[in-house]
Amino acid sequence: MNSLIRLKTPAEIRKMREAGRIVAEVHEGLTERIRPGVKIADLDAYAETLIRSRGAIPAFKGYPHSSGDPRRAFPATICASVNDEIVHGIPDERILQEGDIIGVDCGAILDGWYGDAARTFPVGGVSEEASALLNATRESLEKGIRAIKVGRPLGSVGNAIQRHVEPLGYSVVREFVGHGIGSNLHEEPKVPNYGSRKSGPTVEVGLTIAIEPMVNAGGFAARMDNDGWTVRTADGRLSAHFENSVAVTSDGVEVLTAL
Ligand code: MG
Ligand code: MG
Repeated sequence: MNSLIRLKTPAEIRKMREAGRIVAEVHEGLTERIRPGVKIADLDAYAETLIRSRGAIPAFKGYPHSSGDPRRAFPATICASVNDEIVHGIPDERILQEGDIIGVDCGAILDGWYGDAARTFPVGGVSEEASALLNATRESLEKGIRAIKVGRPLGSVGNAIQRHVEPLGYSVVREFVGHGIGSNLHEEPKVPNYGSRKSGPTVEVGLTIAIEPMVNAGGFAARMDNDGWTVRTADGRLSAHFENSVAVTSDGVEVLTAL
């Protein structure tokens, strides 16, 4: 395996499970809070309060901007990406409307170990088109996780995701990919949501990665807003995002961002 990949011990994976559980708690709490009329900034405040109440720290708040300008660091606990926004939307005063979909990405740090997970939620009743996209993206994450096998190339993950969603007419975002995770939010290896099953490093026990398919209803092209963070579909169509942090153990593959 790529020498930049840091495999984790069972004790380290235990720490990551605790961090991951806090992120899962946030998503669980958001499931009942996300509804028409809710202000996105209030969801962010909920997430931050819950994470800090568990003795953890929000992992995204203050995350450096690609420009290196400290004034442009990410300002919030969650990324909130509505409708055609793919990822990295900034929580603000916007009010959720019936029929919206909102992707919430959240990370927590506990005793120096990271958890990272995303869900896309329907706001009230949503269109058939939106509902089908959410289901397919969630399923693609499950298929990606099931494709992980010790001794097999990691490319089997992205290949499984791509093969699930493309026949449905959807596309997989190229510019953003999953990642190793551990005592950093983003570690080696990269985990693309597309490509050959023969690509990538060989999976070994101790590998810990965040798998995060971003699936567009239309084309995969993306563009960045002037805020320097929000990424949305170039064609204005819907996008969904689901993510779990997982560990490869001697007993199999474990989802760390679970209750
Ligand atoms: Mg994430
Ligand atoms: Mg991630």
